[in-house]
Amino acid sequence: MSTPSPAPTVGFIGLGSMGSGMTRNLQEAGFPLVVTDVRTEAADALVAAGAAWADTAAEVAARSDLVITMLPTPRHVADVVNGPDGILVGIHDGGTWIDMSTSVPEVADQVRLAHAHRGLHVLDAPVSGMSVGAATGMLQIFVGGDADDVARVRPVLEAMGDPERILHVGGHGAGYAVKLMINQLWFSHLVATAEVLSVGVRAGVDLGVLRDALVASPANSNFLEKDVTGILRDGDYDEGFAIALACKDLGLSIDLARAVGVPTELSAVVEQIYRRARASYGDRAGEMTPVKLYEDLIGHELRL
Ligand code: NAD
Repeated sequence: MSTPSPAPTVGFIGLGSMGSGMTRNLQEAGFPLVVTDVRTEAADALVAAGAAWADTAAEVAARSDLVITMLPTPRHVADVVNGPDGILVGIHDGGTWIDMSTSVPEVADQVRLAHAHRGLHVLDAPVSGMSVGAATGMLQIFVGGDADDVARVRPVLEAMGDPERILHVGGHGAGYAVKLMINQLWFSHLVATAEVLSVGVRAGVDLGVLRDALVASPANSNFLEKDVTGILRDGDYDEGFAIALACKDLGLSIDLARAVGVPTELSAVVEQIYRRARASYGDRAGEMTPVKLYEDLIGHELRL
């Protein structure tokens, strides 16, 4: 009888709103972890439960079988990969790096091209599902890269995401592109919903009646049916995802549209509304705070 091979050691860099839940689920699934974050306290609970701490990204890479990054912006990803104590310093030849940040392909492309002789395996695997999805291990994951690599790391991804919704969406960079398009559409739904609810309420329709009518109509959306209820019922603008990061995503999405030559007038307006909300309520305000701009304008909160 053959003995099962031991679970690979997973290196994880970036233990914030998303990374904290993702690492907890990896740990519970039995993957040994080596972790780091610029905020050392972010690792306290993981280390208490058996994860190893490393001082640098290079050390994380050297001590693990595959490395995952979950960082705020492309700049953070570039620093953690290319920096003097970065992943490229520590990773073994033939090693695997999965970037699960919402980002763009430049850093990963450069790693694959400039370090081709090292035989590194690189995947982009950004996620949807908010911090609650990270905490419950039910993330949706969009993977770009080679099919063999996706199959090999699938058990690791399944510890963090919903197996039914871990999608191999294409070659390198496709995961990043799909994720940016999802966020662009979701943010557009949010702004459109805030507008129609505010106008309808101002026109004298009861908020609950208006929403139910919209949900029952051809204009229904997932945002209207599900996600907006956090605001309408609890006044929760989802601080688990900071508006500064939402603005980052909208900027990257518009950059992508520009790069591929598609004019996106609507997306540009949505980005401006998001930037206005960020300027009004601060970087750490929740991703749904643009609704508040409309609430301020009509003079009361949209609550059921
Ligand atoms: P976050 O800011 O909460 O966490 C990022 C973590 O990275 C922080 O703990 C920070 O200290 C750490 N970090 C920053 N620079 C570092 C460095 N040089 N070395 C080590 N650690 C470093 O962000 P988040 O909300 O967890 O988002 C992470 C990524 O996931 C972003 O790209 C975001 O757009 C994306 N995302 C977020 C959500 C959400 O709901 N929060 C949902 C889907 C995707």
